[in-house]
Amino acid sequence: MTPKNFENKIEEKIAEAARMLATAEYPVCFTGAGISAESGVPTFRGPDGLWEKHDPQKAVSLSSFRNQPEAFWDFARELVITSGASPNPGHQALARLEEQQILKTVITQNIDMLHQQAGSKNVLELHGSLEKADCRDCGARYSWQELEKILKRDETPECRNCSSLRIKPRIVFFGERLPEKVLENAWQEAQQADLMLVIGSSLQVYPAAGIPDLTLQAGGKLIYINADRGSRPEIFQLILTGRAGSILPRLADSALKISRGD
Ligand code: NAD
Ligand code: ZN
Repeated sequence: MTPKNFENKIEEKIAEAARMLATAEYPVCFTGAGISAESGVPTFRGPDGLWEKHDPQKAVSLSSFRNQPEAFWDFARELVITSGASPNPGHQALARLEEQQILKTVITQNIDMLHQQAGSKNVLELHGSLEKADCRDCGARYSWQELEKILKRDETPECRNCSSLRIKPRIVFFGERLPEKVLENAWQEAQQADLMLVIGSSLQVYPAAGIPDLTLQAGGKLIYINADRGSRPEIFQLILTGRAGSILPRLADSALKISRGD
């Protein structure tokens, strides 16, 4: 397919997705690392993926965090500081859709806080986020602001109260359970949704990856916005392959026009 044909086709698909979005009763979205890729946050998988450099089983596992917290903080530094991440047009489009009362909820697997920074309010963080952390030894609490300053100095956070290095961010480490309340809310939202946009996720990390299935089982439809067709293309009503930061603003513009009746 020539690039021009491809563009025509993607425009048609965006128009179709916009119609579905504007007429849905309860549309939600489910996002993964791919939506933050254009913000410079590395995804786990793929050629420039973080797995190439850091073994996440080590860096983000509880057992190694106990012995080697600096491995985790090196990884976190690279994820959100060295990358210079800030929200991209994809995050902003979702925030706009929520503000205009089209999109109900953002269910995300990301821990990078970029949806909130873009202005999304109703965000369910299945894997927690770096926003808050607690000292495992004395219970002292930390905000991202405080941690960010320490990480920017290339240091590993040390408790200001008891000097412990075991300051654990409120993210879900490998082998840990997902926060129950957040997971329940996400299940509920997914079941209530008659349309879910699944954006930038390889759908390989469970139980999060099972959430779109709940929408499907309840009779809702799924649209996939992803760099590739993924491993389960058959579950989607519509697949828009490409970059979320390019597709989502066009989708939002178009859906907002339809819902205003322009
Ligand atoms: P993943 O890395 O497994 O898959 C990312 C998907 O996004 C891939 O299918 C890829 O083709 C697609 N993609 C890449 N660039 C894209 C773009 N510009 N536009 C649209 N799609 C694009 O991500 P996952 O499914 O979220 O699973 C990874 C796990 O790792 C999650 O549990 C998440 O918590 C964690 N993680 C989080 C971050 C973050 O917070 N930003 C980053 C890396 C990993
Ligand atoms: Zn402490």
